[in-house]
Amino acid sequence: MKLTELFKDDKLSLSFEVFPPKTDTVFESVKHATEEIAKLCPSFMSVTYGAGGGTSKYTLEIAKNIKANYGVPTLAHLTCVSSTRETVRERIADMKAAGIENVMALRGDIPAGLENADRSHWDYKHAIELVRDLRESGADFCIGGACYPEIHPESATQKEDIRYLKEKVDAGCEFLTTQMFFDNNLLYNFLYKIREAGITVPIIPGIMPITNGNQVDRAIKLSGSFMPQRFKSLVDKFGTTPAAMKQAGIAYATDQIIDLFANGIKNVHVYSMNKPDVAEAILSNLSDILG
Ligand code: FAD
Repeated sequence: MKLTELFKDDKLSLSFEVFPPKTDTVFESVKHATEEIAKLCPSFMSVTYGAGGGTSKYTLEIAKNIKANYGVPTLAHLTCVSSTRETVRERIADMKAAGIENVMALRGDIPAGLENADRSHWDYKHAIELVRDLRESGADFCIGGACYPEIHPESATQKEDIRYLKEKVDAGCEFLTTQMFFDNNLLYNFLYKIREAGITVPIIPGIMPITNGNQVDRAIKLSGSFMPQRFKSLVDKFGTTPAAMKQAGIAYATDQIIDLFANGIKNVHVYSMNKPDVAEAILSNLSDILG
């Protein structure tokens, strides 16, 4: 099922993100975790792609398994910045052969140490080039892209970021999933600005349940997200008590999702981080809301 079909529906829905293992030895346990999440029947599941290639071979395997054995529509991620045209062509052919219908086209993070390198000779500089390659591949993919309510860390201004986002959408992105955020007002402001800029595709807000005090610094560093005082207080109070932090983090994420639904958002994507218990708890908190 193409995700654009799902997004046309008026029903509220929740989707989950999982990531493939970094090493062969944990493949089975990661696969099991993704299957437990699939059993919860989310509206779709996304499977991330390791930019450095370490986990890339499992993205397709996990996406195929979820779709074939659990009937959950999948979104397979693909990055381009560390790859050659030839490798990307091969990956696209693999996706086509595996019957993947939905692809998240990403640039990927610049490998550590190369942030200031001359990139003029790189095969890929931006996600838009991958979107074009996917469109030109002849496969009828439904293509998604990433967007940043708090602007991408490399962008000089939000205006510039949104201008490039519009180009990415015009090149063939049919929906956008957001970077995590902890203050819904940032998302609402962003939505206003991108609609004004003429971006009309569905925007799927991405919510990260912070269930572990140690996760906070890494998540904030990676995303550059603003931490509202309400969220800071919660981490300060419960961050060193694992069970309490988990409960508080799930409650905070649930609260964000309810507010999004109440304000007209129909599909929310949860960065469930291969944690079936967290995915299940959020779904259970929303059981009557999702119907
Ligand atoms: P782009 O769209 O290329 O944007 C990157 C920067 O370049 C922005 O500042 C943008 O404004 C600017 N830009 C865009 N086009 C141009 C242009 N033509 N000229 C000049 N500047 C331009 N990483 C992974 O490795 N694997 C994953 O599976 C993965 N999944 C993700 C899922 C989501 C929902 C999100 C939000 C991020 C994900 N990432 C993943 C991280 C992502 O790869 C990084 O955030 C990366 O730094 C940017 O990727 P992008 O596709 O948004 O890049």
